[in-house]
Amino acid sequence: MSAIPESLIRKYNTAGPRYTSYPTALRFRDDIAPQERPAVFAPADGLISLYVHIPFCPSLCRYCGCNTVITTLKGVSETYLDHLEKEIALWRPRLAPGTRVAQLHFGGGTPSYLTAPEIDRLAAMLRAAFTFTSDAEISVELDPRRLDRERVEAFSRLGCIRASLGVQDFDPKVQKLVNRVQSFDITRDSVTWLRESGYASVNLDLIYGLPHQTVESVDRTLDRVLELNPDRLAVFSYAHIPWLKPAQKILENSGAMPAAERKLELFQRILDRLTAAGYAAIGLDHFAKQDDELAIAFRDGRLQRNFQGYSTHPELPMLGLGVSSISQTPEAFHQNEKELPEYYAAIEAGRLPVAKGLRLTEEDRRRAHIIRTLMCELTLDYAKLSSALGLDFAATYAAELARLEPLAKDGLVEIGEHAARVTPTGRFFLRNLAMVFDQYLETAANRHSKTI
Ligand code: SF4
Repeated sequence: MSAIPESLIRKYNTAGPRYTSYPTALRFRDDIAPQERPAVFAPADGLISLYVHIPFCPSLCRYCGCNTVITTLKGVSETYLDHLEKEIALWRPRLAPGTRVAQLHFGGGTPSYLTAPEIDRLAAMLRAAFTFTSDAEISVELDPRRLDRERVEAFSRLGCIRASLGVQDFDPKVQKLVNRVQSFDITRDSVTWLRESGYASVNLDLIYGLPHQTVESVDRTLDRVLELNPDRLAVFSYAHIPWLKPAQKILENSGAMPAAERKLELFQRILDRLTAAGYAAIGLDHFAKQDDELAIAFRDGRLQRNFQGYSTHPELPMLGLGVSSISQTPEAFHQNEKELPEYYAAIEAGRLPVAKGLRLTEEDRRRAHIIRTLMCELTLDYAKLSSALGLDFAATYAAELARLEPLAKDGLVEIGEHAARVTPTGRFFLRNLAMVFDQYLETAANRHSKTI
């Protein structure tokens, strides 16, 4: 049985964002005026973060919510790299002189779709176009089903020190239904290659809330996961959005999807097992060894949240490269074309492939800070927020604090004179707590996945 009362689960299992950004990408507009298009990236301290999206996957995992292109056609990645190179050339003059890259992340799709020579080519393109800081943090998402020692070493030559491996679940019945059959052996080999190639940190991604998952099956997956001794784990709640991702309907039609009560029971079990194994629970859905930078940043109140989830790095302007990538500056968000033909067409016409955007207001920036603080620190310290935002937090957001009262009555948050603190029960409802500070929620309420 879950320790969370069913009445709370029923009450709070509503649609809501995961707040990897605020405002969320649903607010982006495709009618951005020319003056709202990205001009020059001129970060105050000269540092930026880069994100490179490699969209390809050889087959579709049915739970997938990412921007993917499913293909096994030869040559697609070469063509993609040709366009990426041209996109970089379009961006290059828009970077202020002296700009350096302090953080680089490869996401997808599957960055390990690229062959080792293609990864070397990508490295050469990036090194030729950008200056990196000597301690730049470079990380990559990898799919063990499409990985070998050559690819691991190629990403290492590129400077990768952190890798995230998709696992999700080791149960054969779950794997078959979600169309992601991945043996323990290939996952273990991937971890071994990463360790032998000198990667400083290995993260494993898991998902709970998939069809056929039970406390017993999740227990068996965790036994195997712990054998691999990861430095970090990201344990995502399955986001069911079949109106955007039709393949998810197959999961729904299986009749084996766990109800919200079962889903929370699964997460409770994962939380108990991982904390008993010595991992620190961080924010919404991350775990890390106690001496890992992420756990230390969480304890010190330095944790950050961005499109990739939780991070230790101070928030930097982000330049997103590749199809569907999002760029972020303190002033605005911009998103590239989501479909390959449109992305290629823009680049071939010599245009930045930006399709959507959102110019941020002062109020957006303030609320983004509040929501990030809640998601990262699980506390709203009124004095700290007042100083960071340059206003009287408790007075300015009195209406929101009043809206937190019913959640406090339900035991999700403790509201004191100087701070509001998320309770252990409230951690399961962090998205609901953050939603109180979301100005745009009503207009987008039905387009998000459920909070549990
Ligand atoms: S490998 Fe990742 S991005 Fe590709 S289909 Fe599976 S979940 Fe989606």
